[in-house]
Amino acid sequence: MKMIKVLLRQLFLTPATNKFPAKYAPESASAFLSSVHRGESVLHPPVAVPPNFRGKIAYDRDKCTGCNLCIKVCPTKAIEPIPDEKKIKIFVSRCCFCAQCNDICPTSALSMTDEFLLSSYDKFADDLVVTG
Ligand code: SF4
Ligand code: SF4
Repeated sequence: MKMIKVLLRQLFLTPATNKFPAKYAPESASAFLSSVHRGESVLHPPVAVPPNFRGKIAYDRDKCTGCNLCIKVCPTKAIEPIPDEKKIKIFVSRCCFCAQCNDICPTSALSMTDEFLLSSYDKFADDLVVTG
């Protein structure tokens, strides 16, 4: 009975996500992304993101002390140390945007940005490996 109530309630809820406006869609998504990677086009998210949105992670290298706490809490092993430099690098393609690393960082070197258009054919592309 409880499940039926939950299902009925779902019918009247508004969607939790925004539809991507068709008027902004390029003719060929892959051709457009290639031109972005060549620096010939720029992505402008057409929808405003809500407060405290958890998008692509940002890393302030100067603030980082190399304590590695972020590495310990990351559930997806998206952060790796650079021991010689006492710094880190973050692989965005592995990140699940939980922000646990942000919460534990003692120097506030990590933050979540509004950037969410992150798809790429190359998970090791320069813009998907954050080194500060
Ligand atoms: S946001 Fe979560 S998954 Fe992403 S790097 Fe930080 S701890 Fe790891
Ligand atoms: S928790 Fe903060 S200070 Fe420590 S290694 Fe990670 S980013 Fe650097």
